[in-house]
Amino acid sequence: MNFTETRGNDGSKSTQVAFSDAILNPSASHGGLYVPEFLPNLGEKFISKHINTSYKELAYDILKAFEIDIEDEDINNALDLYDNFDDKNDPCPVVKVKDDLFVQEQYHGPTRAFKDMALQPFGSILSSIAKKRGEEYLILAATSGDTGPAALNTFKNKEGIKVACMYPSGGTSDVQRLQMVTEDGSNLKVIGIEGNFDDAQHALKNLLNSQTFKDELENDGIKLSAANSVNFGRIIFQIVYHIHSYIQLLKQNEITLGEKIYLIVPSGNFGNALGGYYAQKMGIPIEKILIASNENNILTQWINDGIYDINDKKLILTNSPAMDILKSSNIERILFHMFGAERTKELFDNLNDNLKFELSKEETAQLQEIFSAVHCDDTFGLQTIKTFLDDGYLMDPHTATCLKAYEQLKTKDLKAVMYSTAEWTKFSPTVLNALNVDQKKYNDKEALTQISKKYNATIPQMVNDIFEAEILHDTVVQKENIEKEIVNFIRGN
Ligand SMILES: *Cc1c(COP(=O)(O)O)cnc(C)c1O
Repeated sequence: MNFTETRGNDGSKSTQVAFSDAILNPSASHGGLYVPEFLPNLGEKFISKHINTSYKELAYDILKAFEIDIEDEDINNALDLYDNFDDKNDPCPVVKVKDDLFVQEQYHGPTRAFKDMALQPFGSILSSIAKKRGEEYLILAATSGDTGPAALNTFKNKEGIKVACMYPSGGTSDVQRLQMVTEDGSNLKVIGIEGNFDDAQHALKNLLNSQTFKDELENDGIKLSAANSVNFGRIIFQIVYHIHSYIQLLKQNEITLGEKIYLIVPSGNFGNALGGYYAQKMGIPIEKILIASNENNILTQWINDGIYDINDKKLILTNSPAMDILKSSNIERILFHMFGAERTKELFDNLNDNLKFELSKEETAQLQEIFSAVHCDDTFGLQTIKTFLDDGYLMDPHTATCLKAYEQLKTKDLKAVMYSTAEWTKFSPTVLNALNVDQKKYNDKEALTQISKKYNATIPQMVNDIFEAEILHDTVVQKENIEKEIVNFIRGN
C-alpha cells in the first residue's frame, strides 16, 4: 500500500511513497504528514479468527493487511520485543474495574508507559530498514518524560542509528529523568534543556527544518528522522491494541460479536486516539471515542465547538504532564481523512498564520459523530486516584482523567475500555498526594516506598534499579547551544 500527504503535494516530493519511505522521512509536502491511501477492512471473520490467537499474531495480520514493504523477518523480530513485556502472551491486559468499565493497561513494557507499545517494534523496524539501505540516521526526540526513555531504550546500540533526546531539565519526574540519564548506549545523547517542554519541542522542530543543520549532518553522511507520533511507523502499532481491546471483551464473554463498545483515551498529541479512529474505520464496532484532556483543554474545544484556537492559551503545567500540549499533531490526520488534503492545508495555513482555525457547522457535526470530549482539573484527578485505590485499583494521573469522560460522555448502555497509559510508579509523588490529600513535594523514592508498603504494591525491578544506576549523561545546556551539542555528538567530540 502507498502513503499519501495530508496537505497535498508541492511538486518536489513524490505524490505516493512506500511505508518504509514514510517512516524514514516523515515530513511530507507543505509541512504535512503521511497517511495510508486507504484503510483495509478487516471484517467479522478477522475478528473471530483472532479470539484465539496471540497478540503478536494479531499485530502481524494487521500489518499484513496494510501491505507494508517490510520483510517478514523484520516484522517478526520487531514483534518479538513484546516478549520482554511483563506477560509475553498479553503485553497489554484488559482488566475489568466495574460492571461496564474496563481498563487496558498499556504500561507493562520496559519503560513503564504506553509509548513502549509502539516505540519498541517501531525502533526495531526503523533500524532494520536503515541498515538494509546502508544509511545512517539521527533520530531526534523531544520529551516531556515518556517518549524519551522509550526512544532511548528501543534504539540503544542499534547499528546505523544515533539518538539525540532533549528533555526539560527539572521538568520531569525523578524516575523519568533517571530512565534517560542512566541509559547505556554509545549511540545515545541525552540533553537537558534550561527551559520547559515547549522549548524542547520548539528546538526539535527548528532542527528538523534547519537547512544548515541538515547540511552539517549530510557532510557526515547522516540523515534526519523523528521518533514522535508524527511518524506513521508508530501509529500503525497503535491500531493493534484498540482491536485487541475489542477482541478481549469478546473473549471474556462481556460482549457478543458486532456489539459496540466505547473507547476512552487520555489525549495529548492524539496518536492513541487516532489509532482508535483507524480501528473503527477498519470495521471494529466502536460506538464512539471519548477524549479525556486535562486543563489544557484545546482538544475539548476543538471537538465541542469546531474551533482550534491557541491565541490566548498558555500551557498549564498539570499532574498529567504527558497531556500538557497546545499543538496536537495527529488531529491533522483526522482532518485529512474527513475533509481531504485541500481543506486540511487551508486549515493548517490558518493555524500557522492566525494561530487559529475553525470548522464549519457540518464539519463539526461530522467530527462529533466519532468523538466526544471533556477535560478535568487536577483536583478531579486526585480524587479519582483516591477513590479507585480505596477499591484496590492503583492508577496514574493520566489514566485518572478518563473517569470524567466515562461519567459525562458515555450516554449509551454499552461497555467501555479506558486506556491506562502509565504505571503509577512513574508518577508516585502525585499518587501519594492523592492518598494523603496534601500538596507536599515528595521525591519519587519516598513516594514509591510509602505507597508500596501501604498497599502492598509491586515496584518493578527496573524502577528500583535506576536509583542505584550510574549517571551516564549529565549535559544540561541553554536552548541556544543545543545544535552545537548535537553536532559535537555526531562528530564524536
Ligand atoms: C504520551 C502520553 C499520553 C498522550 O498520548 P497521545 O498519543 O500523545 O495523545 C498520555 N499519557 C501518557 C502517560 C503518555 O506518556
